[in-house]
Amino acid sequence: MTVTTATPAITIIGSGFSGLGMAIKLKEAGFHDFVILEKAPDLGGTWRENVYPGCACDVPSHMYSFSYELNPDWSRMFAPQREIWDYMRRTADKHDLRRHLRYDAEVVGIEYEDETRKWHVSTRDGRVFVSNAVVSGIGALHVPSYPTIPGMESFRGRAFHSSRWDHSFDLTGKRVAVIGTGASAIQFVPRVAERAARLTVFQRTPPWIQPKPDFRFPRAARAAFRRVPGLARAFRNGIYWTLEARALGFTIDPRLMKVQEIVARRHIERQIKDPELRRKVTPDYTIGCKRILLSSDYYPALARDNVELVTDGVTEIREHSIVDGQGREHEVDAIIYGTGFKVTDALNEQRIVGRNGVKIQDAWRDGIEAHYGISVSGFPNLFLLLGPNTGLGHNSVVFMIECQVRYVMECLRLLSREKAHALDVRQGAQDRFNRRLRERLDHLVWNEGGCRSWYLDENGVNRTLWPGFTFEYWARTRKVKPRAYEIIR
Ligand code: NAP
Repeated sequence: MTVTTATPAITIIGSGFSGLGMAIKLKEAGFHDFVILEKAPDLGGTWRENVYPGCACDVPSHMYSFSYELNPDWSRMFAPQREIWDYMRRTADKHDLRRHLRYDAEVVGIEYEDETRKWHVSTRDGRVFVSNAVVSGIGALHVPSYPTIPGMESFRGRAFHSSRWDHSFDLTGKRVAVIGTGASAIQFVPRVAERAARLTVFQRTPPWIQPKPDFRFPRAARAAFRRVPGLARAFRNGIYWTLEARALGFTIDPRLMKVQEIVARRHIERQIKDPELRRKVTPDYTIGCKRILLSSDYYPALARDNVELVTDGVTEIREHSIVDGQGREHEVDAIIYGTGFKVTDALNEQRIVGRNGVKIQDAWRDGIEAHYGISVSGFPNLFLLLGPNTGLGHNSVVFMIECQVRYVMECLRLLSREKAHALDVRQGAQDRFNRRLRERLDHLVWNEGGCRSWYLDENGVNRTLWPGFTFEYWARTRKVKPRAYEIIR
C-alpha cells in the first residue's frame, strides 16, 4: 500500500531552467499550491551537474536567461557554468521557490488514476505526491551515454564521463585519453591539455567549429546595463535576432549554410598550420547537420606538442591502454568519456502510466512525440517542458521554455474557466501537428546533411529539434485551441 506524502495541486519535476520557470509563473499568477521535486541535493539541472573544467554556455548569456530576470552583471558574453548556476539559485531565492523544493526526490513513477483523475508521482525513497497536474522539466541531457568498447571494464586507471567529472583526480602530469569531440569535449580538452603530460583525443566524427566571440564585459558596460533603462533588453533583443538569422539555413534550405561553412573553414586554416591535422579536423558533411560548435581554443589545443588527435577509432580498452583501429596501443592513466547523453531515453525510460493504464512506452511505440512538444494524448494534465522536437540548433532553449510555460499557464486557465478536471490532447490534433513537423524536418540539414547525430532516433527520425524560427513557435503556442483537447469534467 502506498502512503500519500502530500497533495499539491501541481507537481513540477526538475529544478533546471524549466522547473524554475514554471514555478515562477505559477507564483506570479497567485498560485502557490505546488511542489518541485529535485533528484539532487540542490537545484540547477544541467548547470548543477556539468562541472567539467571549461564548462560554459555556448549561447550568449544575455539571451540564455529568463526574459523577465535580466542579469546586467554577466561577466562575459558566454558565462561560465558557475555563474549560470549562481544566477539560477539567486533567481530561485528571489521568487521564494526554496519552500516548494523537495530535494533528493528522484521520481521513479508517474501514474494517472482514472477514477480520481489524479496523478500519483512516486519518488525513489517512497514518497508519493498526488496532484491534478504534473509538469515535467527533466531536461534531455543528463543520462550519460557510454560507448560499448571491448575490455572497457578491465581498465585499471581512472575513467569518468564529462558530466560526472572526478575532481578528486588530479590530471597534472598524467597521460589522459578523451573519447568524443562534441560540445562538452571541445570545452574541456583545452583545459586538460594544459595540465596533462600527454593527451590523446579519439575523434569519431569531426565537428564543425566556428570562432567563439567571447569577451569580458568591461565594468562600464555592466554599469550601463544596470543603469541605462532598456539597454540590457535592447542588447538581448539584438542577440536574439542575430541568432534567429542563423536559422535561415536550418529552416529554409541547407544550401544557405554555405556562409557558415566558409567561416568554419577559415577558422581551421587560421588556427591549424599542419596540413595533416587540418585534414583530420575537417568534416565531410554539411555544416549544421550536427550542432555547430563555438571555440577559439580547441584547435590550438589540438596543435600542441603534448596532444595527439587519433581518428582511427577505438577497438579495445586494456588495463592501462587504448587500442586504436590501426592496432596502435596508447598507454593512458585516465579516460574521459565526452560521449554525450542518451537523449530520447531520458523521457522514454520514465515509468509514466496514463489513462486506462497505458504506458508512455506503448504510446510512443513508433517514436516519441507530443503536441507542440508539450501534451501527449492519453496523458491528461501531464505537461512536458522541452519535450520532443522543441530543442534548438540556433538559439536559446530558455526562450522555448518560456513559450511552453506560458502555454501550460493557458491550459490551466482554460481548465479553471471550464471548471473542468483535466485536458487530454486529441490524438488527431497530435498526429496532424507531428505529420506537418515530419514533412518539414525530412528536408532539412539534420536529415539531409550527410551525418548521423543524436538529433535523430534509431529510425533516422528527428525527435529532438524544432524545425523553424523560434518566433514561429512563440506565435503558435500563444493560444491554446480548446478544440485540440478533450475536456474531462
Ligand atoms: P555530443 O555532442 O553528443 O558529443 C558526443 C561525442 O562523443 C561526439 O563526438 C561523438 O562522436 C562521440 N561519441 C559518442 N559515442 C561514441 C563512441 N561509441 N565511440 C566514439 N565516439 C563516440 O555530447 P556532448 O558534447 O556532451 O554534448 C551534448 C549536448 O549538450 C550538445 O549537443 C549541446 O546541446 C549540449 N551542450 C551544450 C553546451 C553549451 O555550452 N550550451 C555545452 C556542452 C554541451 P560522433 O559525432 O561520431 O557521434
